[in-house]
Order: sequence, then C-alpha cells, then structure tokens
Amino acid sequence: MKFETRAIHAGQAADPATGATIVPVYQTVTFTQDAIGEDRGFVYSRSGNPTRQALETCIASLEGARFGLAYASGMAAVAGAMQMVKSGDHVVVADDLYGGSYRLFSKILPNYDVRFSYVDATQPAEIEKALTPATRVVWIETPTNPMLRLVDVGAAAEIARRAGAWLVVDNTFATPYLQNPIALGAHVVVHSTTKYVGGHSDVIGGAVVLDDEALYQTLKFAQNATGGVPGPWDAWLTLRGAKTLAVRMRQHEANARAVAEFLRGRPEIAAVHYPGFPDHPGHELAARQMRGFGGMVTIELAGGEAAAKRLCESTELFALGESLGGVESLVGYPWLMSHYAFPPEEKRRKGITEAVVRLSVGLEDAGDLCDDLAQALARCR
Ligand SMILES: *Cc1c(COP(=O)(O)O)cnc(C)c1O
Repeated sequence: MKFETRAIHAGQAADPATGATIVPVYQTVTFTQDAIGEDRGFVYSRSGNPTRQALETCIASLEGARFGLAYASGMAAVAGAMQMVKSGDHVVVADDLYGGSYRLFSKILPNYDVRFSYVDATQPAEIEKALTPATRVVWIETPTNPMLRLVDVGAAAEIARRAGAWLVVDNTFATPYLQNPIALGAHVVVHSTTKYVGGHSDVIGGAVVLDDEALYQTLKFAQNATGGVPGPWDAWLTLRGAKTLAVRMRQHEANARAVAEFLRGRPEIAAVHYPGFPDHPGHELAARQMRGFGGMVTIELAGGEAAAKRLCESTELFALGESLGGVESLVGYPWLMSHYAFPPEEKRRKGITEAVVRLSVGLEDAGDLCDDLAQALARCR
C-alpha cells in the first residue's frame, strides 16, 4: 500500500472491543487479567498501551520498517536509541547536530564512559577516519539543522556496516514522507514526532524505528526499564497528525520553495539555503536519496546580526519560537536559540553565524507569507 494509505490505516484497524473506527484513547494504567498470568496482550501502560501501539505500528510502517517504539519526546527517543551502547563504546557523530542531542552526548553520556568523536559527515571519508575498534554507533542527521547540508545515508551506512557499527539517522527534518533511511541502508531511525509527524505544535513526542529484532528487544526492554513512554493522549494526537503527513509535506514544500525563491531576489538577503535549488551543494544527493526538499529554509542577512535579529522580531505571521514542522510558520535565530548550546567558534565553523535566520515554512498562503517577510525585511535595511 502507498504511504498515504498506510498513514491512515497502518495499526488502525477497527477497535476489537467496540468497533470504534478511530483508535480510542486507552486512558488506563492497568488491564484486568482473566486469571493470574493470563492477560489479553496488555498488562500495564508503561510496558504497553493499545493507543501507543497503534502509533508505533503506523510510524514503523511509514518508515518501511518492522518495529517502532514511541517515546515521551524526541530526546527520550534519542536517549532510548543510545541504550544500545555500553560503557567503553565509541560513537562517531555528525557535528551538524540537534542541540539537545549534543547536550546529551557531551554532558550526560560521557558520565557513563561513552566516548564521542564529532566529524563533518558531509564528507563520508571523515566518518571512516574517526572509526576506532570500539565504535558501535555512527549518528547522523540529514538535511542538517539549520544549514540544510546533505549527508549521504547509503555511504555512511556502508562505512558503519564494514566497521560492525549501527548507523542511526535522525530523520526529523526530512520526515518519513520524504526520506526512508532504512531503505538506504541505515539500521535505526529516530524522530522527534513533535515536529512534522505530529505537525500541529500541540504535542511533544519521539519515535525509534528499526528492522533488527534483537536490537528492538534490547531497546524495548530498556524503555520499559527507564520509563520514557508517551501517555495515550499524546500518542493519539501524534497519530492524528501522522494521518495527514503526506498532504502537509507536499504543501510545506511548495510554500518553502515559494518563500525561498522570493527571498533569493531580495537585496537584504546574502544567501538562501534550500536543497531544492539546483545550485545548492547537496541538491543532487537530496534528489537521489529524498523524494522532495522539505519545508525548511535558512537565510543569511546582508545586514548581519542587527538585520537578522530585526527580521526575527518583525514578522507577524512567522512566530518567533523554538520548534519547526507545524502548520504555522516559525522563525528562529539559531545563534541564540536552537544552537545556543554549541560554542561560538564551533557555530562559526559550521557557517551558523549571527546573520543566520531559520524559517519553518508553514501551511498559510504562500503569498501572505512572502508579504509578511517583505514588510519585515523593509525594516532590516
Ligand atoms: C526537536 C528535535 C529533537 C528533540 O525532540 P523533542 O521532541 O524536542 O525532545 C531531536 N532531533 C531533532 C532533529 C529535532 O529537531
């Protein structure tokens, strides 16, 4: 079945107890047992809940994978996936990384003697160079946040496989509609479903998706042991969002392209980063490994820091805020917001300067969005 159909039907058969067409919110802690040791598949909602299970089945199906686990947040999913490493293990990480993942990898996991090497993963040879005999995981994002650089998933997977390591791809920016890393050779996919999958900026959540059954059992055991599960309402809201992912992504992309083209012609803008532009350095790779170019646009203001801050504070439709991927447009200032956790020289090295502004282009009318940016840019001269 096609993606649109799976989004609406996978894991979402009529409720066995009542015939409810929509998966019910199973707001229950426990499940009455028929006899001691005789349950109907569910025992206690940390270990398993039917609403959560529907979401897990659906998201696994959207990624074309066998197993899914839903978590209380994207960060719980990142931490959950990292339960595959042990003390003494080594991880190679793409240095263009979500700030929260960087915080976990730099401030928490080293306390457990897990070691990290950061590399420019847009050059697969750099991943290879960083491998050690202790490397268990290679961790990448593509397209990257906020500069929208592309990492070759197939090449990274091959390098990881030869080293006996797992390749994990944080697929939050691309979404399963536009990119399926497991089909490209990755072993594990991580999502912050808070973003495009939920899609309405009203629920925090995360997911891990994978094909390997033994690894799935390891991560499921760890999730039950550590407890970072979403409640049934949050699982239900995320599942409701996922149903419309395909139509939303098509419109996000159309709007992002319109906004990127509009901005490209403006004198206040020094650069527009959008993988859909043929002269974007990752364009060909994106065209090969993705089915579209997504809804994020990153720009650099000709007027530097002052102009960038002014733009962020002058838009009316684009709300100034953290997050991305919702139906409403958002504007963010990575230097002080999403990428605050990174040292300044590290940010500069990656091109994340004080002049950079990130746009999550929403589903409002594209003309209205361009008008809003035009009025804001007029104040940036
Ligand atoms: C937001 C985000 C996360 C963390 O997700 P939360 O739901 O905020 O915990 C992880 N990775 C990426 C790429 C993100 O954008």
